[in-house]
Amino acid sequence: MNGPSIDPIAVADRIHGLEERLADLSGGRTRLLPVTKAFGPEAVEAVLAAGHSAVGENYAQEILAKDDALAGRDVAWHVIGSVQRNKVRRLAGRVAVWQTVDRPALVSEIARRAPGDRIMVQVDPLGFPGTGGCPPGAVEDLVGQALDAGLRVDGLMTVGAQGDAAATGRAFRVVADLADALGLVECSMGMTEDLEQAVASGSTLVRVGRALFGDRPLRGGR
Ligand SMILES: *Cc1c(COP(=O)(O)O)cnc(C)c1O
Repeated sequence: MNGPSIDPIAVADRIHGLEERLADLSGGRTRLLPVTKAFGPEAVEAVLAAGHSAVGENYAQEILAKDDALAGRDVAWHVIGSVQRNKVRRLAGRVAVWQTVDRPALVSEIARRAPGDRIMVQVDPLGFPGTGGCPPGAVEDLVGQALDAGLRVDGLMTVGAQGDAAATGRAFRVVADLADALGLVECSMGMTEDLEQAVASGSTLVRVGRALFGDRPLRGGR
């Protein structure tokens, strides 16, 4: 789990610089979620030291290991990678927001293991294989199911099309419109590569790793 080394002062500078940029671009609508995947607990420490408590992570194993390493620190973990149903039980009680809920079985399992938890529904408007997310037409039913099961639905989440700005723009607009139509507040969209586009489309939460911590070692993916 020990990734490349972290300079907490440089990270704090980048966090604060990006927050200023987001405030300028969005008029205060868009917040920053630092993503620490592939980096060790010291990356999370740097985020905490910069005054943030919410952190995004993709992998159950990394959340459990870092949460243990930081025992007693108040980290609000956002799950932003696809979750296998059999990981929910171990994660329950440690997660602040499950952002990648995209199917009925996952809604049921979270409602059972982590009653009342906060979720977002992940949408895949482009039908990309492998990134997770449900089709736009399935969102309303999933939101309804989650609310009926006693979960709190913060909003919608999506991942843009890497290297395809036009498709990404379309996807962001579909998701923002859907959130509006359903009266949902949060729109988690945008990463290092496409955050300006996400802000312009109405993102309320950008999930940013590389722009804060530098390139990830290959094993961390993307
Ligand atoms: C890794 C990841 C991010 C952060 O990506 P960067 O390019 O490092 O900003 C955001 N969202 C998801 C779903 C990710 O997997």
